[in-house]
Amino acid sequence: MSLAYGRPYLAIPGPSALPDRVLQAMHQPAPNIYEGALPEMVETIFPDLKTVARTRGEVAIYIANGHGAWEAALANVLSRGDKVLVLSTGHFAKGWGNVAANLGAQIEVMEFGLRGPVDPVRVAERLREDTAHDIKAILCVQVDTATSVRNDVPAIRAAIDEAGHPALFLLDCIACLACDDLRMDDWGVDVMVAGSQKGLMTPPGLGFVYFNEKASQARAKADCVTAYWDWLPRTQADIFYQYFFGTAPTHHLFGLREALNMLVHEEGIDAALARHGVLARAVWAAFDGWATEGGVSLNIVDPAYRSHAVTALRCAAPHGAQLRSWMEQEAGVTLGIGLGMAAPGSPEAAGFFRIGHMGHVNPHMVLGVLTSLQAGMDALDVPYAPGGLDAAARVVADATRRSKEVSA
Ligand SMILES: *Cc1c(COP(=O)(O)O)cnc(C)c1O
Repeated sequence: MSLAYGRPYLAIPGPSALPDRVLQAMHQPAPNIYEGALPEMVETIFPDLKTVARTRGEVAIYIANGHGAWEAALANVLSRGDKVLVLSTGHFAKGWGNVAANLGAQIEVMEFGLRGPVDPVRVAERLREDTAHDIKAILCVQVDTATSVRNDVPAIRAAIDEAGHPALFLLDCIACLACDDLRMDDWGVDVMVAGSQKGLMTPPGLGFVYFNEKASQARAKADCVTAYWDWLPRTQADIFYQYFFGTAPTHHLFGLREALNMLVHEEGIDAALARHGVLARAVWAAFDGWATEGGVSLNIVDPAYRSHAVTALRCAAPHGAQLRSWMEQEAGVTLGIGLGMAAPGSPEAAGFFRIGHMGHVNPHMVLGVLTSLQAGMDALDVPYAPGGLDAAARVVADATRRSKEVSA
């Protein structure tokens, strides 16, 4: 017997759960790619993407996953031999740095560990030492999906400014765009990359590169740029074909249009961010309540640096792997593997797992995952203290009580 027969739920940190409306919007015949409804619809996508990132800059769309968006962003601003500073808080900034190295940049990785954010003081110190301004770009991840740390982007910008350093500030928001607050222009982010399959509730396959005027100027000098990655025609197309340097990803665009209808025009980006905040605090409250010797604990101890999109957990191996398989086989929920915390496939790696709570998620989904987890801990004799579920439910209750008071 398995209890998992019912609607399956993919609660990994991307791809995220797809709204039925997005799937239905994609279910239509192939459109005319030269003129008419499709090109007109695509013109409406750009302003909404800018609203999500709170920018008046440009955004280019690529038929690519996040790794493609990484390469696109770098190719437009780097020249071979440029020095790039990588601020590592887990797995993803280093991955982005490796893409820069493959393009011919010299990378320097500053390591900030697996359990906390970038320290802006150390960044300012390093930049002040670079009196010749050899460092051309700084790569940072807003939320490292492996550790679930959320970096303090304005503080890092302030460190760069305090050092008086002209390097471009590049930010990866693939995990957390539309889940954790981002104000690209106010926070002085020069280039930002995102993907369709996490907070944007669309299947994997679209990559977004946002850039400002300073980054446009860097593009004019970059010698890594190639015809396919060039963001210029993708933002200033004379004919529709140029937006995608070839055939448009028609059905992904139908899906994205519907996802943006839901996010920007119905719920609103502020409300979506607030919803993610409540759901994330419910997850934290559960694990804080369950905390006990030998049990499961949150990887990021300081709540100020936890993401609203994903939560990384640690426990005694092999409890993490056992809980994941129990959840999939008995509860119909797929959780994320531990990533970057221990060597892949090593016994230690079975002591980590992650919960994605990004995009099309609401209390019955998140509380359902938490309740199922408690059942799994019970069934597998993973120790936990009582009270975690009560605490999680109270976070949800308090959030609705407060919003009622506000609207009354
Ligand atoms: C998911 C993710 C990526 C990689 O995206 P892919 O679409 O798998 O290439 C990069 N950076 C962060 C922060 C991510 O969460």
